[in-house]
Amino acid sequence: MTALDDLSPATSSAGSTSPVLAGSSLGRITSNGSTARSISSVIRARLETAGAPYLANDNVADYLLEGELDLLQKEVADRVRELLRTLLIDIDRDHNTEETAERVAKMYLQEVFKGRYHRQPKIASFPNVKQLDEIYTVGPISVRSACSHHLVPILGNCWIGIKPGDRVIGLSKFARVADWVFSRPHIQEEAVMILADEIERLCEPQGLAILIKAQHYCMKWRGVKEPQTSMVNSVVRGDFRLDPNLKAEFFELVKQQESVLG
Ligand SMILES: [Zn+2]
Repeated sequence: MTALDDLSPATSSAGSTSPVLAGSSLGRITSNGSTARSISSVIRARLETAGAPYLANDNVADYLLEGELDLLQKEVADRVRELLRTLLIDIDRDHNTEETAERVAKMYLQEVFKGRYHRQPKIASFPNVKQLDEIYTVGPISVRSACSHHLVPILGNCWIGIKPGDRVIGLSKFARVADWVFSRPHIQEEAVMILADEIERLCEPQGLAILIKAQHYCMKWRGVKEPQTSMVNSVVRGDFRLDPNLKAEFFELVKQQESVLG
């Protein structure tokens, strides 16, 4: 009996086995013949039953029970340890890689991909009591992500333009929600849409524009090895889409913010 079994609803002795989690196909047979179910397969079964998407850039926090993230981190560390061994790295003798598996697991679940496993930071919105309707931009906000194809970094900046609606959020909150959205494996084209959806949900602006300019390490570090190429993309919604002047004003403001950086 491993620690994983203890938390697995399907192996609980309390008789409250969830139909969601039942089924031997999820189990794996251990050397002593008992069926141990990995925590990832327990959570995956829950996601499948709920019909919840769990693509690389989806958030699955709602489907994790108390304590499961710690167990998942341990399981990921076990798998990374196997990966290192498979790469013929002598982790038993090489003190540099001795705890690499634990570090990588922690980095994925708690840092660079935390936007998949943790809930959105609490972001309060307030009524737009002064009925502000002038556009403003926030940026540059650091973009730190990883490409879904190679899991290597995407690093860059993003700018957000808002024409306020009925609700407003604090400026720093844009950076918080962007960090949460980008801390997942992504492709840049989808990242900008997901960020736009979250911001619309938080403050229901009359207009929203987002510009992202980022460098992809799968192009810099490997593949074509082009160190200077960056990818720029944007999304414009609401009044920014309807009014070409407003859209032009957003890109002009971004240019000014970029020039402040020198
Ligand atoms: Zn890539």
